[in-house]
Amino acid sequence: MPEVKLVNITKRYGRIIANDHINLTIKDREYVSIIGPSGCGKTTLIKIIAGIIKPDEGEVYINGKLVNDTPIEDRGIGYVFQNIALFPHMTVWDNIIYGPKVKGYPLEEAENLARETIEMIKISAKIDSYPDELSGGTQQKTAVARALMSRSSLLLLDEPLGALDLKVRTVLRYEIRRIVKDLGLTALHVTHDQEEAMSISDRVVVMRKGRIVEAGRPLELYMRPKRLFTANFVGEANFLTGEISRVAENGSIIDLGNNMKLASTDKSRRAGERVVIAFRPEFVAIRREKGKNTLPGRIINIIYSGNLLRLTIELPGGNEITVKKTIRSGETFPRLGERIMVDIPPENVLVYQYPEGGLHKELSLD
Ligand code: ADP
Ligand code: MG
Repeated sequence: MPEVKLVNITKRYGRIIANDHINLTIKDREYVSIIGPSGCGKTTLIKIIAGIIKPDEGEVYINGKLVNDTPIEDRGIGYVFQNIALFPHMTVWDNIIYGPKVKGYPLEEAENLARETIEMIKISAKIDSYPDELSGGTQQKTAVARALMSRSSLLLLDEPLGALDLKVRTVLRYEIRRIVKDLGLTALHVTHDQEEAMSISDRVVVMRKGRIVEAGRPLELYMRPKRLFTANFVGEANFLTGEISRVAENGSIIDLGNNMKLASTDKSRRAGERVVIAFRPEFVAIRREKGKNTLPGRIINIIYSGNLLRLTIELPGGNEITVKKTIRSGETFPRLGERIMVDIPPENVLVYQYPEGGLHKELSLD
């Protein structure tokens, strides 16, 4: 079954290291997404798995077999490319049946395969249309259908939804997951949209500058990111620097300066260590009185978006944090300029070693 194993995959373009010793195993029937800033090496990696690019170093195994010298057509892969690439002069039907035809399948077999695929992807009504008569969503469905025609159990998707409107993108991403799961495929899905990755994947791999930063289940990456970069790239986070003042049985106390202290359930650092703490805007509560784990602040900006309030809060010393708050009926609205307390549960205060090159560099996307 299609397990993919990458060992030390490295690819250079002159001085650029597009993939820098990548080690990754994708299990049979697993849906894995790769996210990372533009230019971090996602497309290069997927093309190396497909056999379109040869790595300078490292091995690609599919089903336990070394495939470095196996040409793309013999790797048993369905591939949806980053840019919509249907043949413009062919109908949906002809686009879909093209692959098996050039491979010399008997016509009847190819047609049956195409009919089955079209049924599965639900584009029966469009089979006589030309690509420029289709919506972006249907074009991409056709591209997925074409990739599935090989009946290979490994599907590689490079930003398959990148060119679509948000609404279409959201619907289609669940469709793709459904098809992958229904057919028992193994899928590797590259995207720069972290929300897309989080909502459809069994596991998400975060890449940066040709390397894997970390990989994990979506919720795990969100709640307990191992790296500062992930905390920033996946979702949203506030960052403050401080020093561990005490480590106890149930966690540690971080001194943030300006008479501010916060407790965290994290015990991985030692007293005196310089650290960065991170917490997500939606885990912060606004109070009018001091609580167990609160910092004083002043509301300096309020943005209303639907039932969500986005507050910017200035802390003593001038650092600013973002707080997201859902509005419930009957509640007093926070006011601009109001002095409040922000309350952060200790389990949501993530603690990291202060990065060697500084916080800014650690979080930067390039
Ligand atoms: P992503 O898909 O994550 O945006 P890519 O894999 O396309 O990233 O590119 C990774 C890096 O390799 C980028 O810096 C890109 O400019 C560079 N790169 C990719 N393809 C080539 C090429 N054919 N020649 C030179 N540099 C390339
Ligand atoms: Mg790319």
